Amino acid sequence: MPAKSNKSGSSGDPILGASSGKKRRHSVSSCNEYERCPRRYEYGYVMRLPQDRLVPAAWRYGSVVHAALEAAYKKVLRGMPLAQTKSVALDALSAAWVSEDMPDDAEWISRAEQVVADAIEKDPIGVAEILGVEQYFKSSMNAGLEFGGFADLVLRLDERTVEIVDHKVTSHASTPEDLQMNAQLNLYGFFALEKYSWADRVVVTHHYPPLRSTVSAELLPEKMNEVVASLVGLARQAEADTEFVPCPGEYCSSCPWADRCDAAPESARSAK
Ligand code: SF4
Repeated sequence: MPAKSNKSGSSGDPILGASSGKKRRHSVSSCNEYERCPRRYEYGYVMRLPQDRLVPAAWRYGSVVHAALEAAYKKVLRGMPLAQTKSVALDALSAAWVSEDMPDDAEWISRAEQVVADAIEKDPIGVAEILGVEQYFKSSMNAGLEFGGFADLVLRLDERTVEIVDHKVTSHASTPEDLQMNAQLNLYGFFALEKYSWADRVVVTHHYPPLRSTVSAELLPEKMNEVVASLVGLARQAEADTEFVPCPGEYCSSCPWADRCDAAPESARSAK
């Protein structure tokens, strides 16, 4: 799922608290950020600085659609049939459009409403038993490092299979092989097997509301372990770092702290 913008300005990741000085909690986003640019990681995850500018509107659009689907599936979790959640979802969409400071673009808003309505009316996921909506997982990984993350939707498929669903607003779909390699999904799979003792299989699904389709794959245990080991390695490296040397490049243009970073190219800074 896309990085959520954070209007409260505590950090670039919703799993981190507002205050500094707490034990760091790692995620795929934080590890990716560290890999892209240690300085950017320092701003967001060590200093926990408010973002100086919003992430691009296309990313915030993902958060808006997620908010609508989250509201709908929370109702389903409480017993309401999905088909009856459309008005709840559209209300949540409207509220999120405002809170995410999205452009006042009637055509875009109408497209977003259609995407959400279709996701509810056509139900490509086929919800069986919901275990969690915006399910927060955490683990200490037996390595003294805290990891956490929110999964969009967690379902029980059968007596031994948990399904993790990730809503995506991209206009192209991944392949099942892509899903099996996806670090975020593998981390959620690891969390799910820790949390649900009855489960020994994890199916992951990308749900594409704009495409009215889904792609699913079963996670491979060895890949899951490999991904977790790699994330633990990156998290250890990030915790040991004291320099956070900037790494200017293609990510500067979307960096929320480019205006304060002395390594940012001029083209990445906001126009004065
Ligand atoms: S502007 Fe570029 S170099 Fe500076 S913190 Fe952001 S990504 Fe890193």
